[in-house]
Amino acid sequence: MERTGGVWAEVSLELLAKAKELGHSSGAQVVALALGHSIGEQAKALLNAGADRVVVCDDKALRLYNPLTYASVVCRMISDLKPSIVLMGATILGRDLSPRVAARLGTGLSADCTDLHLNADGILGGIKPTYGGSILAEIVCPVKRPQMMTVRPHVFPRLPGASFGVTEKGTVEPFALIDTDIDHSLVIGEEIAEAQVCTSLSTANVVVCGGRGMGDRETFGLCEKLALALGGMAAGTRPAVEEGWITRDRQIGLSGETIAPRLLICCGVSGAASFTTGMLNAGTVVAINIDARAPMMAQADYAIVGDAREVMPLIIRQTA
Ligand SMILES: Cc1cc2nc3c(=O)[nH]c(=O)nc-3n(C[C@H](O)[C@H](O)[C@H](O)COP(=O)(O)OP(=O)(O)OC[C@H]3O[C@@H](n4cnc5c(N)ncnc54)[C@H](O)[C@@H]3O)c2cc1C
Repeated sequence: MERTGGVWAEVSLELLAKAKELGHSSGAQVVALALGHSIGEQAKALLNAGADRVVVCDDKALRLYNPLTYASVVCRMISDLKPSIVLMGATILGRDLSPRVAARLGTGLSADCTDLHLNADGILGGIKPTYGGSILAEIVCPVKRPQMMTVRPHVFPRLPGASFGVTEKGTVEPFALIDTDIDHSLVIGEEIAEAQVCTSLSTANVVVCGGRGMGDRETFGLCEKLALALGGMAAGTRPAVEEGWITRDRQIGLSGETIAPRLLICCGVSGAASFTTGMLNAGTVVAINIDARAPMMAQADYAIVGDAREVMPLIIRQTA
């Protein structure tokens, strides 16, 4: 279970809900692994989010994420519990921790899945967009255990009321840190703000995304202005990032972030599959494009045919 800003990360709650669904069909228990410092009360809340058991390693040494210490504790937890499946969020932390754990346990890892299901033989299938999003491949780990997968945020709903209300039945069990878990070769002084920026894009309610059609850095600034006017965040397609108009942590798509805002405005974006993979769960989608036949226009709820350099200032003026 991952924590950001002192609360459980959305993706962890989403994975607990999915694990509960998988456990229901296979008869397996759902165990949440919680690591941190002074997280006792918060750990209990995981019983509301889909966990049958919560195993908590609560220690000062786990206050900040040290990849080597965390990997050691998680590996010992997994060796004790012997789960068939281990799920983590495809976040910065999950992408760092999961391969370390998989390598130490000598098992496989399917990274960045966008769906999960149990096959007829009870083996977990992880769906993963490949070849630029043109193929959805199913990855399985038929022999080694546990079957490890990381899953993108926002592809599953969390249980309604997760983390709130009356605590459901279940157990919270302590797990002791031992001296050999602590890695002294790496000292984490402080948390890096960039990780939080990525998280906020993936949780933003309004996103204004600019593509190559914005033309240059200065015109791309209209995306930032419109996002500011709407209380949202600016983002970009991969070409916009490669042009240096916006930072990489704001890229949407297959090799970027997955977002699920209530409102997404795409300006000068063609709508390639590698881009739309990252926005499939967006609510209302508005596209502004000079080409009425651009694939993005067919995907949008509202398609505005026009030059973004002319249309966007009009919208910004209306919202002022
Ligand atoms: C393995 C792999 C991973 C990838 N991952 C990603 C990813 O994560 N994210 C991503 O975005 N891409 C990704 N791509 C690239 C992707 O395939 C597309 O090339 C990219 O999304 C296109 O970006 P774009 O829409 O900004 O540019 P373009 O495809 O060039 O589209 C520009 C659009 O702007 C319109 N336009 C031009 N001028 C104006 C104007 N003045 N006003 C309004 N509209 C205008 C044009 O009509 C056009 O539709 C990946 C590719 C591969 C192979």
